[in-house]
Amino acid sequence: MSSPNSTLYLVATPIGNLQDFSPRALATLRGADRIYAEDTRHCRPLLSRFGIDTPALSFHEHNEAKREAEVLEFLQGGGSAALISDAGTPAISDPGFALVRACHEQGLRVVPIPGPCAVIAALSAAGLPTDRFAFDGFLPRKPAARRQSIESMRHEPRTLVVYESAHRILDALRDLAEILGEQRMGALAKELTKLHERIIRAPFGEILRRLEAEPELQKGEFVLLIEGAPQAADDTADRQAEQTLRLLIEEGLPTKQAAHLTARLTGAHRNPLYKRALELRGDT
Ligand code: SAM
Repeated sequence: MSSPNSTLYLVATPIGNLQDFSPRALATLRGADRIYAEDTRHCRPLLSRFGIDTPALSFHEHNEAKREAEVLEFLQGGGSAALISDAGTPAISDPGFALVRACHEQGLRVVPIPGPCAVIAALSAAGLPTDRFAFDGFLPRKPAARRQSIESMRHEPRTLVVYESAHRILDALRDLAEILGEQRMGALAKELTKLHERIIRAPFGEILRRLEAEPELQKGEFVLLIEGAPQAADDTADRQAEQTLRLLIEEGLPTKQAAHLTARLTGAHRNPLYKRALELRGDT
């Protein structure tokens, strides 16, 4: 059994604005025995600015597999370690997932210290539905693979969120507008929490034209959001519920019972069916 100290902390760091560094994140980094960082050259100035002198070691995509055994051994020996990435939440399009899985498998404690994350910041501020969404990481770099990936979004009902780099943002927007249609609603969240932050919510044709017209908008870090496709299947289900309800009313069932039975038969919600049944009877 591992000692209580044997803990891996996943510490979120700012994605731009340093004031987003939470007091708990700072305290955790100060209190940990070691910090594993995606890029130690990048994190040292940030850590020293906040008076954190915890030893920092590298943990990046090229040494992740090799480092894993070392981190596990350190934790098993009673040490505590904090994992950070260059910006945002570790393990989200950044190294860490395999280490976290290994910690769970070995019965080691894993503690998230939540904070900035570009996906969530963009989603919360884009004005697209947030009740269901999917994050698809970075869009593929190669044009054919990117187009194929966008093709697969055509009928996706959930809001989709992807990361894209400045080098490819125009090409990605051209493909999105062409494949999903200029009218498909989307959003582009750029330089979140930074000086040049912009959030553009518009159909993809318009987002593309705005970026083409204003080269300054093409610079920086980006999150792209794609509104879910309207659901043809829902329309079919609605039609089925309507037909069933009409039939039961025509057969003389009382309003409440017709709504109740239709809900049971079709899986539709009972309250709207009851209202509709009243309308059909002309009782309202
Ligand atoms: N783990 C990070 C997180 O929690 O957001 C993401 C790391 S991923 C390697 C970096 C990508 O996230 C960038 O290329 C960009 O697409 C997005 N990103 C990071 N910071 C951003 C910001 N301030 N504004 C917009 N997008 C950002």
